[in-house]
Amino acid sequence: MAYKITEDCISCGACEPECENEAISEGDEVYVIDADRCTECVGNFESSKCAEVCPVDACVPDPEHEESKEQLLEKWRSLHPGEMPTYEP
Ligand code: SF4
Ligand code: SF4
Repeated sequence: MAYKITEDCISCGACEPECENEAISEGDEVYVIDADRCTECVGNFESSKCAEVCPVDACVPDPEHEESKEQLLEKWRSLHPGEMPTYEP
């Protein structure tokens, strides 16, 4: 399940460099996550890095993007051709 950023975001920018998939960018009002690039950190880490660093808990799972761990790993592979995942569920 891809993550999303809620309106609680204070645009501190802490999450952006944590994402190995470059899924996070600065939006018009709050930071945003590109669901096509978010793998819930599957492929890199056991837990979601953006959620860990966010000081206001604004990074949350997005129920509109239900995906299995296998689908998330497949997404990671398409984003990182030729690389080996460092974390597989
Ligand atoms: S959950 Fe992981 S992959 Fe998804 S946006 Fe956050 S840091 Fe990036
Ligand atoms: S870490 Fe949290 S508050 Fe900071 S930019 Fe990211 S979502 Fe917004």
